[in-house]
Amino acid sequence: MKNLSIAIITLLAFYSCKGQDLLTEKNNFTKQDTIRGSITPEREWWDLTYYHLDIEVKPDDKFISGKNTIQYKVIEPKQVMQIDLQEPMVISKVIQDRKELEVTHIGNAHFIKLVSKQNIGDIKSLEVHYKGNPREAKRAPWDGGFSWKKDENGKHFIATSCQGLGASVWWPNKDHMYDEVDSMLISVTNPKGLMNVSNGRLRKLVENENTVTSHWFVNNPINNYGVNVNIGDYVNFSEVYEGVKGDLDMDYWVLSYNLEKAKEHFKDAPKMMKAFEHWFGPYPFYEDSFKLVEVPYLGMEHQSSVTYGNQYMQGYLGRDLSGTGWGLKFDFIIIHEAGHEWFANNITNKDIADMWIHEGFTAYSENLFLDYHYGKEASADYVIGTRANVQNDKPLIGVYNVNNEGSSDMYYKGANMLHTIRQLIEDDEKWRQILRGLNSEFYHKTVTTKEIEDYISQQSNIDLTAFFNQYLRDVRIPTFEFKIEDGELKSHYTTILEGFDMPIQIKIGDETQWIYPKAIWQTMPFTGTELEVDRDFYVMAKRL
Ligand SMILES: [Zn+2]
Repeated sequence: MKNLSIAIITLLAFYSCKGQDLLTEKNNFTKQDTIRGSITPEREWWDLTYYHLDIEVKPDDKFISGKNTIQYKVIEPKQVMQIDLQEPMVISKVIQDRKELEVTHIGNAHFIKLVSKQNIGDIKSLEVHYKGNPREAKRAPWDGGFSWKKDENGKHFIATSCQGLGASVWWPNKDHMYDEVDSMLISVTNPKGLMNVSNGRLRKLVENENTVTSHWFVNNPINNYGVNVNIGDYVNFSEVYEGVKGDLDMDYWVLSYNLEKAKEHFKDAPKMMKAFEHWFGPYPFYEDSFKLVEVPYLGMEHQSSVTYGNQYMQGYLGRDLSGTGWGLKFDFIIIHEAGHEWFANNITNKDIADMWIHEGFTAYSENLFLDYHYGKEASADYVIGTRANVQNDKPLIGVYNVNNEGSSDMYYKGANMLHTIRQLIEDDEKWRQILRGLNSEFYHKTVTTKEIEDYISQQSNIDLTAFFNQYLRDVRIPTFEFKIEDGELKSHYTTILEGFDMPIQIKIGDETQWIYPKAIWQTMPFTGTELEVDRDFYVMAKRL
């Protein structure tokens, strides 16, 4: 509640200074950022229940048009609703109870004045009609939008991607992570000869005169950026995977000329499912099936329709991000993007500032895939190898309420932070139960960092408050400084926040033992001449 009231006060302050324009300096966020990134009063009073997105895509004109029917439950009896849709897309009309409604605009936020009385508990819906040439992706998926590409045969090959940027880049919605619909229907009309693949299951395919309409139903909560449209000359193959919750349909949609290649290459998908159901618990969307869908960009964690563009290579476009060789044992995009089904799609951050919950755990999932199939040493090699990618430029957590992501260190610093917790718990089965417990405790929910921190501290019986502050909210990696002299080991931590006192294991010859460094120097008897800090702990070691 505290954060929320701060958000609202900030928002009101912004509302009252209308002349304020774009501020570009670091950490100076604009009014648009606040309206986009906070739970505004015009968002807070209603709870999303259902979307029916119904659009036609005209590839030759790079044009889309249609409507989103938004169903919601009234929590507070307010009369103004915020819907987001980014320029240059335009809302043509909004209808509720057969009446066209008045809409005012502040940039990409649209405020709809509702005429029908909104009573607490009512389930209401409205239709937002819209059209335009959506922003073209500049460098999908990072700088996203619509990718209007052609395949090797010159046929249209189209896909959407909008993480961070927001789904409102191509369809009107409540564009904030905290509120997800309970289910969704996605209807897409496109030229004949091409197929659209979206999230969930194909419910119906309707042939029109020159077009075809596919209706895809998602029977689970879904975040906005997870919703996607992929149109191409697709062919399909599938398998039934015997999962921990029963039969799971796994479907693969690839360009017609890649079918044989994909049949061989996508064998990583059931291997992925085996490893992740072991470590994280049941795949969270059995009702919706699991799909891999080929796209003209690298890939994205679109829920139940993970998009794939790693060009049928091992690693990350043929590269090993860990530099150890283990990264070439799997297709990075299949493993990483599917890992997000548990962390991002099942457990979703409420505010994108907490995106490390998506990327930290998912980067960590890469090494758990290796752990399952190649053993613990391989997995440790891999995750420790990825430390070379850490910049320590900014904290992992971004700025709240302004749609701001933290440092890209959320991937590999996040993964190594989790790997370190595994060492502190010193009981792999318990750690596995915590990872599985997160996925059942926060099943289909949106969460804050605090909830994740508290859950791990409680379940592990270790107070990780200072630990999380250090790795999530500070840029410094703790340094273990030590001296060995006169039969004594003198040691302490530097580059730490107050209260950080994580125990670590050190190796002296063949012996391993726990020690308990703090900020102040401590002395203990020591017979050896060398020591080594166990590499599994993410600290720097410095002998003075
Ligand atoms: Zn990711």
